[in-house]
Amino acid sequence: MTEHSSMSAEETIRATLQAVAEPLLLIDQMGRIDFANLTFQSQFSSPSDQDSLASIFSIDASSFPFTGQTRLSVAPYELIVSPVAETSLFIVSVKSLDIKQLLDSTLDIALLVTDASFRITDHNETANLLFGYEQGELVGMCPHGLHDQEEFDQRKQHLEQLNLKNLSTADILLLHGREAENEWTYHRKDGSTFNGRLYMTRLDDGRFFLFIADISSQKQIETHLIKSERRFRLFSESIVEAVIFHDHGKIIDANRAAEVIFRTKLEQIKGRDALNFIHPDFHDEVSRRIELHRDDPYEVIGRRADGSPVAIEVFPREIVTEETPIRVAVIRDISERKKIEVMLEREKNAIMRQRDITQSILQASNEGFLLTEEDGSFIFMNVKARKLLDVPGIAPSKIQERISMIPNLDLTTRYEMLQQVEELLAGKHSELSFRFTLQRPNESSHLYFEFYATSIKKERSRISRHGFLFVFRDRTEEQKMDQVKDELISTVSHELRTPLSSILGYMELLRYRKLPAEKVARYVEIMHEEAKRLTTLLNEFLDIQRMEGGKQPYDFKPFSLRQLLVDTAEAFGETAETHQIILETPDDPVTIFADENKVKQVILNLLSNAIKYSPSADRINASLKTQGDQAIITVTDYGLGIPQNAFDKLFTKFYRVDNSAIRKIGGTGLGLAICKEIIESHGGAISVESELNQGSTFTVVLDLDSRKDYAK
Ligand code: ADP
Repeated sequence: MTEHSSMSAEETIRATLQAVAEPLLLIDQMGRIDFANLTFQSQFSSPSDQDSLASIFSIDASSFPFTGQTRLSVAPYELIVSPVAETSLFIVSVKSLDIKQLLDSTLDIALLVTDASFRITDHNETANLLFGYEQGELVGMCPHGLHDQEEFDQRKQHLEQLNLKNLSTADILLLHGREAENEWTYHRKDGSTFNGRLYMTRLDDGRFFLFIADISSQKQIETHLIKSERRFRLFSESIVEAVIFHDHGKIIDANRAAEVIFRTKLEQIKGRDALNFIHPDFHDEVSRRIELHRDDPYEVIGRRADGSPVAIEVFPREIVTEETPIRVAVIRDISERKKIEVMLEREKNAIMRQRDITQSILQASNEGFLLTEEDGSFIFMNVKARKLLDVPGIAPSKIQERISMIPNLDLTTRYEMLQQVEELLAGKHSELSFRFTLQRPNESSHLYFEFYATSIKKERSRISRHGFLFVFRDRTEEQKMDQVKDELISTVSHELRTPLSSILGYMELLRYRKLPAEKVARYVEIMHEEAKRLTTLLNEFLDIQRMEGGKQPYDFKPFSLRQLLVDTAEAFGETAETHQIILETPDDPVTIFADENKVKQVILNLLSNAIKYSPSADRINASLKTQGDQAIITVTDYGLGIPQNAFDKLFTKFYRVDNSAIRKIGGTGLGLAICKEIIESHGGAISVESELNQGSTFTVVLDLDSRKDYAK
């Protein structure tokens, strides 16, 4: 306690100061330093004996001696000097002004601090950089000197007009505090200028703080914005897409392209409802899209000012400006594209149709078609090919495999076929042709095929590849025809040779032998008959050829069938020595519209056959009657008759019933085929009924002349 009390008051103070975290000094009246606490020592320096407040903080000597509490502004510090009671000492507390931090910070803003008389006492580094002064040059200057004098004077005058007179420079600057007015033009040391924005305050002690921000770069940005806006406008004017700005469908602005698309003036677009430019059918859809703020592109039918529709594509966007979101619709006229699309669609349909047609032709074709890749794997196979090559339950994918599985193909043929196909696929040949026969299962007959293939070039992208077309042609019918033709030729040559050799034989006899007169007459008679047969044969053959080729001209006319039948029968009857022709006809003429000569040919043929094939009979019957609108002729004989199984073939050419009795009777087998051709060409029918050794009846049905009704 004694120890304690022996401690002087100063010592107590020192100990206390040491414990305080802020920089503190203990000085005497004259500023001499008695003590500096640890905080002070660390922030400033450990003051030596010679140091005084004046030397550390460059304080004017006039401030001393201290008498009471004093505030000293020694930027960037403020010193609060307070006397310590019951001592002659003073405590100095060193307060950092906020300004200090400001000055030290790397602000982009220039900071000028002035004294009350508006001289710069302090500034930050940015100020030097901004105004282009060297270290220390700004100090002592008046901020007014940095301003553009003309601008300053103008503003001063303006204030004076408002009756604000006798204002100090600082006041003039201070009064321009509002956003728009606090922009000033500043001069740098080198004479160049920049735009600055000034924020200025006056402290209680009369000092001024001036913050000057360089806004020229901001200005540049603004200029840039204006320019780019103009550029955008130019751009939007030059693009073909219409750009429409609207607020909930109400059009705020649009570009020139909108005029073109909607065929009206901008003035007629601005302010209108966007739906005015949309076809009514789409109003609901478009409204909904606007309501839902949808921004996916869509196609719609627009409406021009003249009401005509125009196909458009809309790219909607929402842009948020400062206040409200605005919608932008970029609109493209797609009518051309639509037209092209329609054309393409049509083209596509045409191609598809073409393809369908080709496919159905291929499918309907009697030939089996197979299209394969280079390696023989199938691309396409029509029904016919499938029928021939499909093996139930197995689906080989290559032609080679299929061939090895064709049913009912004999081994040798199969092997040969495979070999040829392999060679084709290997590129040894560019085509192949091959005939083969298949034994029809459970039948004695054969199926005849021609198999051919060819390599085809397919242009797929730029690489041309090869493929193969295989065709299986069923030539069974053809084979039959070939057989018929062969038979025909042998028949014809036989039929020709028979009378010819008979004629030649008799001629030999006549030439080299002396024969009695009656024999000569007999032979000549036979030769004449045979020559007549030859002529008939040739004529009939030519007739049937012509008729089958559809080249027979018919001379259609109305005539009386009754008359024709009567005349023909009478004329024919005169030559027929053995038979009597019994005729039965109605009274009316039975007019038909037909080729009279050809019908006559039919009648003659039937009458002649009837007599020919009834050698033991002495009469034949012929009749004509009408039934409904048809005329019916029948020729009946009482002769050899025709076997039932021959009825079908009777009317095909060169067919002759094959029995000895008939073979003895000469004939070509062409007559009835010609009759059938003629009658069917008239739209009629010919048929036969017969019983062996009893006789036959041939019936011809022809339409009556329906035009007769008009004639009446
Ligand atoms: P062609 O009489 O010259 O042989 P057709 O075509 O007139 O030729 O007759 C074909 C075949 O029909 C004859 O060969 C004969 O076998 C049979 N035929 C035709 N008419 C009769 C008939 N009235 N009676 C019996 N058979 C007939």
